[in-house]
Amino acid sequence: MKRQKHIVQKVINLTPETFIIRLDRGNFQFEPGQYVVIRIPGQNKGREYSIYSGVNDDYLDFLVREIPEGSFSRYLRHLMPGSELDVEGPKGYFILDEKTKSGNKVLLIATGTGISPFHSYVRSHPELKFNILHGVHFADEAYGRESFDPRRYLLCTSRHDKGDYFGRVTYYLKEHPVDKDTICYLCGNSEMIDEVTVILEKYGIPPENIRTEVFF
Ligand SMILES: Cc1cc2nc3c(=O)[nH]c(=O)nc-3n(C[C@H](O)[C@H](O)[C@H](O)COP(=O)(O)OP(=O)(O)OC[C@H]3O[C@@H](n4cnc5c(N)ncnc54)[C@H](O)[C@@H]3O)c2cc1C
Repeated sequence: MKRQKHIVQKVINLTPETFIIRLDRGNFQFEPGQYVVIRIPGQNKGREYSIYSGVNDDYLDFLVREIPEGSFSRYLRHLMPGSELDVEGPKGYFILDEKTKSGNKVLLIATGTGISPFHSYVRSHPELKFNILHGVHFADEAYGRESFDPRRYLLCTSRHDKGDYFGRVTYYLKEHPVDKDTICYLCGNSEMIDEVTVILEKYGIPPENIRTEVFF
């Protein structure tokens, strides 16, 4: 697997917990939806991160939530411009299929930083029409909202009522049936993915039309 050094251009703080780390792109090629393993040079330690930027951007962005008890995400947040990181990849198969590219009805469902691959889809393919359901705790966690078509993006906030819908994505989906010929892409924590899969299957969506990427 290809491993290359990339330079940190900047760290952009979005909320007290979440930030974008921007690296130089170099000649790195990927498909929207793929992830990389970022490693600290000289150490074996690394973590997976989905690519947040689009295929036409001349930089590589990653959307990261700092985990207070975690070590790697905290390390990334405090990197200075000019620091080096090892990037291994691209990896993964959470990419758009032909049916999606040819205009099939699509629903993207994310929690938290799970919006990252979807941001890459939308930046890379502005011509495609995705409906997006984004579950977060608070409305200031609507990362990248400005990149999404406001008529097709719905923010579910579970800890206050300042989003478009007050409650978790699972509650929203139980109240709003999904057409059985929709292709669904799910990204985020495993609990959400398991619960949403059960709901979608009850609506008659076949397993092959439910694509998933588990972050933790
Ligand atoms: C394919 C893949 C893609 C990923 N893409 C991203 C990404 O784009 N952005 C990102 O922030 N993380 C992403 N992750 C998670 C990431 O790899 C790390 O696990 C995360 O940054 C925490 O690392 P840490 O060393 O700070 O804490 P760790 O000690 O490794 O983790 C501590 C705990 O934090 C929780 N946790 C981990 N990641 C998150 C998260 N994103 N949001 C909330 N809680 C979390 C889990 O409960 C975990 O057990 C991805 C994971 C996988 C497998």
